[in-house]
Amino acid sequence: SAMRDERIKKTKTVCTYCGVGCSFDVWTKDRKILKVEPQAEAPANGISTCVKGKFGWDFVNSEERLTKPLIREGEAFREAEWEEALDLITRKFTEMKKAHGPDSMAFISSSKCTNEESYLMQKLARGVIGTNNVDNCSRYCQTPATMGLFRTVGHGGDSGSITDIEKAELVIIVGSNTSESHPVLATRVKRSHKLNGQKLIVADLRKHEMADRSDLFIQPAPGSDIVWLSAVTKYILDQGWEDESFLNNRVNGLDDYIASLETFTMDYAEEATGIKKELLIKIAEEIHSSKTVSILWAMGVTQHLGGSDTSTAISNLLLITGNYGKPGAGSYPLRGHNNVQGASDFGSMPDRFPGYEKVTDDAVRSKYEQRWGVKIPAEPGLNNHEMISAVHDGHLKAMYLKGEDMGLVDSNINHVHAAFEKLDFFVVQDIFLSRTAEFADVVLPAAPSLEKEGTFTNTERRVQRLYQALEPLGDSKPDWEIIMDIANGLGAGWSYSHPSEIMAEAASLSPLYAGVSYELLEGYKSLQWPVAKDGTDTPLLFIDEFPFPDGKARLFPVVWTKPLQFEEQYDIHVNNGRLLEHFHEGNMTYKSEGITSKTPNVFLEVSPELAKERGIENGTLVRLTSPYGNVKVECLITDRVRGKEVYLPMNDTGDGAINYLTSSHADKDTDTPAYKEVSAKMEILRAK
Ligand code: SF4
Repeated sequence: SAMRDERIKKTKTVCTYCGVGCSFDVWTKDRKILKVEPQAEAPANGISTCVKGKFGWDFVNSEERLTKPLIREGEAFREAEWEEALDLITRKFTEMKKAHGPDSMAFISSSKCTNEESYLMQKLARGVIGTNNVDNCSRYCQTPATMGLFRTVGHGGDSGSITDIEKAELVIIVGSNTSESHPVLATRVKRSHKLNGQKLIVADLRKHEMADRSDLFIQPAPGSDIVWLSAVTKYILDQGWEDESFLNNRVNGLDDYIASLETFTMDYAEEATGIKKELLIKIAEEIHSSKTVSILWAMGVTQHLGGSDTSTAISNLLLITGNYGKPGAGSYPLRGHNNVQGASDFGSMPDRFPGYEKVTDDAVRSKYEQRWGVKIPAEPGLNNHEMISAVHDGHLKAMYLKGEDMGLVDSNINHVHAAFEKLDFFVVQDIFLSRTAEFADVVLPAAPSLEKEGTFTNTERRVQRLYQALEPLGDSKPDWEIIMDIANGLGAGWSYSHPSEIMAEAASLSPLYAGVSYELLEGYKSLQWPVAKDGTDTPLLFIDEFPFPDGKARLFPVVWTKPLQFEEQYDIHVNNGRLLEHFHEGNMTYKSEGITSKTPNVFLEVSPELAKERGIENGTLVRLTSPYGNVKVECLITDRVRGKEVYLPMNDTGDGAINYLTSSHADKDTDTPAYKEVSAKMEILRAK
């Protein structure tokens, strides 16, 4: 058989694309990736994968991979050896810290990297440099969901497992293009809906596949989800349909919460959302008649001025109806990247240590100070949104960023690029020369998931191991080794020989991972946090209590923050999101032949009404201009969108990149950019 060829190797890995966390065997022969073979024992996906997990691996052997450190010389880069690059970084970081203090520097971790690498990035920032200026890109997507859950139920993750979603009697999907963004998870919902009589309600601007399949689909006005969610909750309370014993025994704050709902009448909701109240009442009735309800949401909810509040409203609704702590029920913020959950879990956040312990908590801080032998600032650091402002203000002078294309994925990128240009010293670590890396002083070549060991945490809080299938290409190295080299250049004396030792350290410090070890994660084994000291994990949260001192959840009153208003000339609402075939801006998927041939270019979805009004055909080239910048893109006419709402997939690295249009306005509680609140004017540049 093929396996008799000794060069053929089979290695268990975890998908490096989305947060579903599919795991599978990858077959390689030398550097050639032969195939991806899912295994029945894979906990999140069994024998399923989507097109990205199956065919999206060519990027690993792309000719564009960085294989040597690069050092800027004037306008260009020259190749360098590691020693020279690391010496330069040591010298610059040391000078910077001396001249301007630790808080003049900032660190950005990556949700593409492993848990262990996220842990080390925050340890470098806090334990070696002495600043809490560390963050990761969950700030661009899911931090508002985490905030909404922290406020109400105390853990910032999916409350159950993907299998719980399958068991739900009713699934509600809000602002998530699940079948394209989380394909394998969507397949499970589709199956339950088709075979088990599961009901499906979808709320979205755009009529995507899940909307087509749903029993009830609503298209609320942009940025108004919080209104219908709160009105439905109020209606349930007014009818006396709340879960009284759950509220009495397990939840605080009911009276204040009821008082806060006063304005959210059905009439008000109809007016604000444009949804007929009969439909909203139908939703309330469906929730009432279902024993278990799971609510799934994503960036259509979070990327707004009130993203945290809308996430909170979802959790409030689940609390009122007793939909926590039982199989089939709960909150499911669907995590975007493969390890966006883990990047935050392991402490790359300006206000949290690993396991979400607070930086402002003296006892927690002193635990870390004693272990690391340093002093850690008592105040939270800058988040990545604040970092950009601080560079413009002149307070922040150096950045070390790994595995993230901030210059493309942050909002208002013209403003971000101007900040990069102002930095005194900028280190970017990546597998490609990204748009961000073009601004760097030093670029360090990192190794992707197939070339290293470590763990990822998927959307259901599941920690899974990946094993090394290939050697790092050229002189590239795993991120954890590079961070250790930098720390040691600064005198840290770290001596990790394998990521398992980093995990052991994190487990010994953070109660959330107390019992996590590589032994318990061997092969296809996995653990869902919190993991007790004896290794017992938690597939379903909140069965007996919520993680607050009195064990009770908290209803948290919210208000509606109306979406950004634009001048009349910006009359087109620009929704944005993912496509099945590509991942985010497409840095990795555009380098995979099998994928690019299917969907080579980005396009703008335009409604038949708007096309008719403006004389647009398929292929017409238009320019969209917002107050912040412009994009050029070809049109595709489709009834997935309606009226003056257009949809621009985010998979473009050039003239069509959505973030030329977005603003610096952000969620008021977490600073997550309000990517979904964009309006623009549209001009035709070239007929078809
Ligand atoms: Fe990878 Fe997500 Fe596709 Fe699974 S569903 S194969 S994790 S991209």
